[in-house]
Amino acid sequence: MEISKQKTPPIPGEITQREPIAAIATPTGEGGIAVIRVSGRDSITLVERIFSGAPLTDKPSHTIHYGLITRAGKRLDDVLVSLFRSPRSYTGEDTVEISCHGGVINTQLVLEAVLHVGARAAEPGEFTQRAFLNGKLDLSQAEAVADLIHARSKKAAESSRQHLDGKLGEYVKAFRQQVIDATAMIELELDFIEEDVEFASRDDLRKLFTDLTDSIQQLLETYETGRIVKHGVRTVFAGAPNAGKSTLLNTLMGRERAIVSEIAGTTRDVIDADWNYDGLLFTLTDTAGLRVTEDVIEAEGVRRSRKAVSEADLVLYLTDLHQPDPQDAQVITEIRQQWPEKPMLIVGTKADRKELLKQLPDKHPKPDIEVSSLEGTGIDTLKRLMKEAVLESRDIDTSGLLVTSSRHRDALEKTRGHVHSALRGLEGGLTGDFLSIDLRAALHELGTITGEITTEDLLDSIFSRFCIGK
Ligand code: GDP
Repeated sequence: MEISKQKTPPIPGEITQREPIAAIATPTGEGGIAVIRVSGRDSITLVERIFSGAPLTDKPSHTIHYGLITRAGKRLDDVLVSLFRSPRSYTGEDTVEISCHGGVINTQLVLEAVLHVGARAAEPGEFTQRAFLNGKLDLSQAEAVADLIHARSKKAAESSRQHLDGKLGEYVKAFRQQVIDATAMIELELDFIEEDVEFASRDDLRKLFTDLTDSIQQLLETYETGRIVKHGVRTVFAGAPNAGKSTLLNTLMGRERAIVSEIAGTTRDVIDADWNYDGLLFTLTDTAGLRVTEDVIEAEGVRRSRKAVSEADLVLYLTDLHQPDPQDAQVITEIRQQWPEKPMLIVGTKADRKELLKQLPDKHPKPDIEVSSLEGTGIDTLKRLMKEAVLESRDIDTSGLLVTSSRHRDALEKTRGHVHSALRGLEGGLTGDFLSIDLRAALHELGTITGEITTEDLLDSIFSRFCIGK
């Protein structure tokens, strides 16, 4: 395996203007306007060559100009051109944004005209990558741009906004500064080893390392909430075949999503759907149902359902109030025994036909809520209960900074490990040179979050998640 090169960190304020790139920055499709973004060296002169309005090269930054885009003397579209001169642009480079009429073909023609005069088609995330390389954003902020674009709920968007504002970067920089100061003291002592001086008092160092470990731990604890905010509450619909799982899922979503069928055991595979409720994202998973079966294909479905339940943040166990399944009580007990901490709501379904059934059989689990997907009764209450069940089960506070990325969590965990190891070393009377090894490793990990330390592989994997034009 080739070891990827470590990149030199961007120096804030030092801007490099790279070759001009261009891409459509708005979504493909029909729309009132579309924006084509051009960034890089000579991008203003380049656009001027296909722009029939006033000359652009002598115009100041942050101005807008009306004119025509032409190619080989042919009018393509009338447009507004916005100029952003380096360093006052998103990428830090000279940037032109052409607002033209929307529509797949028209937008493509304008883009091709820009490419024809010398711009290169941008790679996914290349504008943001340039912004990072020019020190306009740190790496955690650049990742937040992608998260904001991909946000699937209001809470997720709010959280990415905080990261985009540099909140995580601020924490990490503060941690880094503390570690740098401690390392500097310890390494200075090494220079005066003969004199046996102590620049950093051992008590102060111990307090610093303990406080740091605690602060990192606190930040790490936000990850569970962060994951739920970003990726959604994994909600699994369990229950016997024909209990009404697919129908309820569709009712919650307000549209046809899962397959509904009268033949028991038809929903064999696991189906996922995004559903937003009150700002929170739920990913709803319909399962094949949990029961004892001889059928090989169905047994596979049951196996997958068990796995889905084991990974769920919330289980909705559906029991048919009209034709209760005799296995329900046993399966519910099993789930409770196997996953005692897991939030679960027992939902009685087909409440509209309940009166056909005189009384629920003895020992049948009592539902937390009764609903009818057919008549829409109980659905609003169920939605509220679902949210409450999630909030109660974990202390979800989305107002503060949340760690939402597993990459950041891993780096923070490693940092905590290194600082902890320095603390143990200190207590065990290790000499400064050993402590400094741990501290430097901690600095390395913290640096990977904000991008002071990056590798080409890491940048590639981060920026390839972006769309083209961002
Ligand atoms: P699943 O196997 O648990 O996913 O069950 P389905 O959602 O496929 O539903 C099984 C059958 O029950 C279908 O014929 C549905 O139309 C019916 N059903 C689902 N919900 C209700 C309800 O609220 N009331 C009535 N009367 N029938 C329902």
